[in-house]
Amino acid sequence: MARTVPLERVRNIGIMAHIDAGKTTCTERILFYTGRTHRLGEVHDGKATMDWMEQERERGITITAAATTCSWRDHRINVIDTPGHVDFTAEVERSLRVLDGAIGLFCGVGGVQPQSETVWRQAEKYSVPVIAFVNKLDRPGADFFAVVEEMEESLAANPAPMVIPIGREEEFIGVADLLERRAFYYDTGEKGAEVPADMAAAVEHWRKHLVEKLGEMDEQILERYCNGEDIPVADLRAAVRKATLARKIVPVYGGAAFKNKGIQKLLDAVVDYLPSPVDLPPTIGTCRDGKEIERHPRDDGRMAALAFKVVADKHMGKLIYVRVYSGTMKAGTYVLNSTVDKRQRIARLIQMHANHQEMIDEIPCGDIGAVVGLGDTRTGDTLCDEDHPIVLEAIEFPAPVISVSITPETRADQERLAKALFAMSEEDPTFIVTHSSETRETVISGMGELHLEIIVDRMRREFGVQARVGVPQVAYRETITHEVEIEHKHVKQTGGRGQYAHVVLRLEPLGPGEGFEFVDKIYGGAIPTNFIPSIERGIAEAMQKGPYAGFPVVDVRATLVDGSFHDVDSSDFAFRTCAATAFRHGVLKDSPQLLEPVMSVSVVTPPEYSGSVNGDLCSRRGRIMGMESRAGVQEIQGFAPLAEMFGYATILRTLTQGRASFTMHFERYEAVPVAIAEKIVEERRKPKE
Ligand code: GDP
Repeated sequence: MARTVPLERVRNIGIMAHIDAGKTTCTERILFYTGRTHRLGEVHDGKATMDWMEQERERGITITAAATTCSWRDHRINVIDTPGHVDFTAEVERSLRVLDGAIGLFCGVGGVQPQSETVWRQAEKYSVPVIAFVNKLDRPGADFFAVVEEMEESLAANPAPMVIPIGREEEFIGVADLLERRAFYYDTGEKGAEVPADMAAAVEHWRKHLVEKLGEMDEQILERYCNGEDIPVADLRAAVRKATLARKIVPVYGGAAFKNKGIQKLLDAVVDYLPSPVDLPPTIGTCRDGKEIERHPRDDGRMAALAFKVVADKHMGKLIYVRVYSGTMKAGTYVLNSTVDKRQRIARLIQMHANHQEMIDEIPCGDIGAVVGLGDTRTGDTLCDEDHPIVLEAIEFPAPVISVSITPETRADQERLAKALFAMSEEDPTFIVTHSSETRETVISGMGELHLEIIVDRMRREFGVQARVGVPQVAYRETITHEVEIEHKHVKQTGGRGQYAHVVLRLEPLGPGEGFEFVDKIYGGAIPTNFIPSIERGIAEAMQKGPYAGFPVVDVRATLVDGSFHDVDSSDFAFRTCAATAFRHGVLKDSPQLLEPVMSVSVVTPPEYSGSVNGDLCSRRGRIMGMESRAGVQEIQGFAPLAEMFGYATILRTLTQGRASFTMHFERYEAVPVAIAEKIVEERRKPKE
């Protein structure tokens, strides 16, 4: 199958939204109107097309990103499903890497919610052009213009309404298209009608507003506007496209996905204003010699693709979603996984539609599809032409902040568990599995309590593992606060060949997130160079289990300043052991510090509960950073240590009779107050029964 849709007609889009804004409904309607789903499943009864996993349906949230292909006005639209829950910001980042444009979806009542801001900033980071859709305009309290204003204030966006609603709340019946000066009522299909007389002035007002906005960015439009010319709609559309691609404006649409209102206009806007792969700058990668190179979106270019999602499919096994940036990926050929340097065969290629999968022969550049049967490929890996290796910029994922132990009930469960955890960790790079040699437990770590709950849930349902799950543990870290110098000699003389190593280390604190740095400052051969790597290794090993409380040590620079050796008795082993001991002593010599993950928390509550929510957060060592009241609710934002936030969903429900909602995501590591740190350390040092 050669290319069926010209590259300029391909759109890779995602929908960014706060949970509950209507993303699932909207995606479903998009798939419905593009003719791929044959019946509308409601979110209520859990038949949403994009909800792949059972528990997602139950929870009504979309967790993982998959990609679905559909078509509209001879364009191919790949809808990349971005997750709606803040615990999974890494997933959002990952999907933003492979999409070219996005729909920012807002609830007409809730407006710009805290998470919308987070996602918006992420889209900014990846320079993704956005169009906005104000949903739920049929609901009491919905206010299109208030949301537009909020976008301007809270997101510092430049929103440009392209439609205005006809009727409010229950009487919301359609939208007036400003460029076309036509009214669109949905009950009677999508054919435009004349704008109702009582709205003509509003349409002219907002149309003028739009054209003036365009004039600010486009001199030609400005000149023609000032000359009083009636600028043809096609020219205005071109100006909107240009401004949107340059991220200078955000065209705003509105409707009610649930009532099938406004979706066709939104699809038109995707086609008209969001970029195709050719509108984007070339993709950057590095070749073997470390040089930066570009790949252009050309069918006959050298193939380069990014694996952005791994899914364990019940029927097909491992599915790897790829975005091809250049060249063509062909079934039956060999490619190089340049990230791990392995040659792999592309056995089968498929394209996912809303309700069926289609076998395809190739994925042309700019397009998205899935590969079946790729063994050693994980999320973030590059697949490329064997003869022209390139590694595309990898997707960065944060380290996990919470962990829980899993003990399988039986031997058979043990086997199933290993399989389940392997499959799930391949899918999700922020989920990590480790085995504790001391307790012989399997420990899983992730980005939040909900994240781990979902994994445990999947482990039980999808993989049928019966297991006991421990109490969640916070992933503390250790670090130092001052510079220290430490000297250590490792000498053993126990008959036969002895051991000798001697090092002097300087340890200095680094900034948060800077990790570990090793500097070799040995002059004049005090220690022969061949032992230096063993010293570094010894320190790196000691860092994995800190001397203070056994947590990993982070953000330290270790400089090897001096030492000595023995011609016969020195060995790699002796230097490794010596460096590890020196490092441990060094950390304890300074007053070591315990670090803990701090979460950014945002609670939306009816105002009458805001006092108790605030008080409770403060009692959890929380810091309130801001309070805002709008549309009958109070929004509280702050930070709180993860350790104090276990079970917060239940606590908040009790505090507010279930009327508040919250989002929480990892923000950064911070020092644990000394008194609390001492308790934690004491607890850790207690002998285990
Ligand atoms: P998601 O969490 O963003 O995926 O949101 P859903 O699509 O699951 O929608 C959340 C809730 O809002 C569901 O109960 C939907 O039926 C409802 N909903 C979605 N769109 C609309 C709309 O346009 N109008 C109204 N009144 N309700 C809607």
